[in-house]
Amino acid sequence: MKGGGHHMSTVAFIGLGNMGLPMAINLKNAGYALTGFDAVPEAMAAAREVGIATAASVAEAVADADFVVTMLPNGPIVLTVYAQMIPAARRGAVAVDCSTVDVTSAKKAHELAAAAGLLAVDAPVSGGTVGASAGTLTFMVGGSREAFEKVGPILDEMGGRIVHCGDGGAGQAAKICNNMLLGISMIGTCEAFALAEKLGLSAQAAFDVMSTSSGSCWSVNTYCPVPGTGPQSPADNGYKPGFATELMLKDLGLSQQAAAEAGQATPMGAHALALYRYFEEHGGAGRDFSAIIDYLRTATRDVS
Ligand code: NAD
Repeated sequence: MKGGGHHMSTVAFIGLGNMGLPMAINLKNAGYALTGFDAVPEAMAAAREVGIATAASVAEAVADADFVVTMLPNGPIVLTVYAQMIPAARRGAVAVDCSTVDVTSAKKAHELAAAAGLLAVDAPVSGGTVGASAGTLTFMVGGSREAFEKVGPILDEMGGRIVHCGDGGAGQAAKICNNMLLGISMIGTCEAFALAEKLGLSAQAAFDVMSTSSGSCWSVNTYCPVPGTGPQSPADNGYKPGFATELMLKDLGLSQQAAAEAGQATPMGAHALALYRYFEEHGGAGRDFSAIIDYLRTATRDVS
């Protein structure tokens, strides 16, 4: 439920980029006393322009905070910010890392927070910048039940769906498992539509069968990579992201890092990573990840 009336809580928001700024705006509009910080002056200026107070450092931003939300590029940066944040934060404050990071860094961040008497959750999101602005993100949350219950009200203001996935790191694990499957299923979907074209089958006929048969999946049914087929998707908008190839590549990389550390075979995930890496270097950068169908249409038969 939005507008829960937790107006007395103070939030520090670190990382005011494409995702962080609209998320911070939603918290501010809900009545939280919010102070932002970003390493880049332009991001701070953009935040002040929309009425968000900014601090001169991480330490200054978090000094009075009940919640410290971070939305940062990767695990090493989150750990750097936690090293600055933890000595300055109040005992009992709750650290909420919404960044997408590797599971090992996420667990390390939990350990650092716990050692200093802070509650913590990893709470990566799906829904992109559109969901961040609309306040409809899905949060995948890892952490204790106590921490999960404390962060519920603020996540509610930024999101539509909040899933408690387990202990520290479980949110990141859920996110990268899902996105590894998405990368694999999108490539499979693109291969099926490309082969259908070569066999003289219309995209509409392929869609009508696959979307209602055993091949059905989100990549076919909801996010079809062929323009004019199925519900509106980035394919109908020149493959403007959507979910950019670079972001898919980041998540596939994190899934492979986790698989290596866990000793789990993920041959399809590894192959999806290789194909997306090739695609990014050959025209895919800046395009929606479903545009990989263009590459597959022209790839030679011996592509691997
Ligand atoms: P972004 O690059 O736009 O924003 C990150 C911000 O962090 C930048 O403004 C940067 O200056 C700031 N920053 C970097 N180092 C810092 C430091 N040491 N101290 C303070 N600020 C620092 O990235 P984004 O698109 O907002 O993504 C943020 C996170 O959300 C990433 O982990 C990403 O994988 C994840 N994510 C993004 C999307 C999306 O669609 N953009 C979707 C889901 C998840």
